[in-house]
Amino acid sequence: MVEYNTIIIGAGISGISCAIYLKRAGIKTLILENDMPGGQLNKASVIENYPGYVSIGGTELSMMLLEQIQNYDVDLVYDDVSKIDYDKKIITVGDTKYSYKHLVFATGRRERTLELKNEEKWLGRGISLCATCDGALYKEKDVIVIGGGSSAVSEAIYLSNICHKVYLIYRGSNLRAEEILKERIERISNIEIIYEGIVSSYWVEDDKLNGVCLDNGMKIKASCVFLAIGHIPNSELFIGDKNSGYIKVNEAGETSINDVYACGDVIDKNVYQLITSSSEGVLVASSIIKKS
Ligand code: NAP
Repeated sequence: MVEYNTIIIGAGISGISCAIYLKRAGIKTLILENDMPGGQLNKASVIENYPGYVSIGGTELSMMLLEQIQNYDVDLVYDDVSKIDYDKKIITVGDTKYSYKHLVFATGRRERTLELKNEEKWLGRGISLCATCDGALYKEKDVIVIGGGSSAVSEAIYLSNICHKVYLIYRGSNLRAEEILKERIERISNIEIIYEGIVSSYWVEDDKLNGVCLDNGMKIKASCVFLAIGHIPNSELFIGDKNSGYIKVNEAGETSINDVYACGDVIDKNVYQLITSSSEGVLVASSIIKKS
């Protein structure tokens, strides 16, 4: 059994912010991460709303966060959590068991998909969940982005610099993205916004993905379909109070389970931004420091 004061699940910006403050307070901390440090940050092409950076790439900021926790000697294990025993306060990861006094869910959220026929088959081969990761594969091609929030608009803008044409298909009539992004997208000549476009199926012919079909009978041809239709919280391992899957916390970041905290995009909140996630991580750290 390996003993820690605090175990943080998730090395996104909230988990990392929490770990930095805990380590500075001398608290033995472990971060468990099943993917890359930085989480959703890695999918942001450019970040322009994080104070202190006029403009910075998502992966670049992720690498800096990693370097920062390495400088603080935070233990970081890359693996999946298979089980949490909330009564005994033990987490099982592969063959290893870790005990904790405090547990922090900083597990973030994952991309929602349309859940249409053929989606699973073509994911990663013509359907993408990340423009920053896959955009370069579609240089000079026509592509589709689906969604109407800030993610979809940012992805369309990013792709417009690489691709020949970008169709942004939005099911509503008024994009819900931030105003600054809406103003920016209106000025880009190779982006066509299709309003009230409901995707009814993927357009597959002769075992080839050609684009999408809309419910009004229109077909839109493209080499790749980028989905940016929101997220699902990674809260399956959490057994306490949730709202639509998002973990409920109080202002100290405490959940309904004793000594279990949550921060970042996995919690039920109004604003899902880097800076809010980071500050929530710090609030959780401060709650733990007070109790340690
Ligand atoms: P979001 O704001 O929840 O937007 C999701 C979009 O997908 C909505 O337009 C929604 O349509 C659409 N959608 C959902 N399910 C759909 C379906 N089944 N079929 C078709 N369309 C569907 O998610 P987000 O854009 O990822 O943004 C999440 C948060 O991150 C927001 O707080 C946002 O401000 C923030 N963010 C900020 C930036 C930035 O540059 N500042 C960039 C990315 C994200 P409806 O509008 O009709 O519901």
